[in-house]
Amino acid sequence: MFCPKCKSLMYPEGDYFICRKCGYKMEKKGKNIVVTKQKKKEITIIEDADKLNVLPKTKVVCPKCGNNEAYWVLRQMRGSDEPESRFYTCTKCGYKWREG
Ligand SMILES: [Zn+2]
Ligand SMILES: [Zn+2]
Repeated sequence: MFCPKCKSLMYPEGDYFICRKCGYKMEKKGKNIVVTKQKKKEITIIEDADKLNVLPKTKVVCPKCGNNEAYWVLRQMRGSDEPESRFYTCTKCGYKWREG
């Protein structure tokens, strides 16, 4: 949109176009002004499907082989008043043990 008076570029402001050079004001009404907002592309990182199926891992020393990583799961002992306990499974040798 250019100013009909001085031919400089006009800027939209509210319902008008305003010439910043000479101050000429023009109504937007009747014109189709489409402002297209470009959406930022969202990047979703999808981990390997295999990794999503395994249990969480933690740094803990296996009492059997000394490996320092194990899968863990919280489990409540059936029929007991004990709080939930962590159960570990060694990522190396598969040894299972209970926390504590
Ligand atoms: Zn102007
Ligand atoms: Zn182990």
